[in-house]
Amino acid sequence: MELTPSKIEVVTLEDDKCLRCGKCCVLADGKDCQYLVWEGDKSRCSVYAERLGKTTGGSEVCIRRSESIFDYPGCPYNTGRISK
Ligand code: SF4
Ligand code: SF4
Repeated sequence: MELTPSKIEVVTLEDDKCLRCGKCCVLADGKDCQYLVWEGDKSRCSVYAERLGKTTGGSEVCIRRSESIFDYPGCPYNTGRISK
């Protein structure tokens, strides 16, 4: 089956389980990443497409969620690693 642009969009949205809680974008010092934007109680990344390797603040850089060693309360991507 050939994927049309609308089908691709649906697949992407269904695969995205992120709850936009922003917890994985908080730095070690407790501050939000400089690129984190809040819309009510939901967060989003203002540089999402180019986020990987960006300096989030201090000496920390953005990595893929799947490469993080941390779990966050309620995050669908938790794998039973270190709880934050
Ligand atoms: S902790 Fe999980 S649910 Fe929250 S913003 Fe990060 S990936 Fe999304
Ligand atoms: S750059 Fe990375 S850590 Fe910063 S808001 Fe975007 S996804 Fe979160």
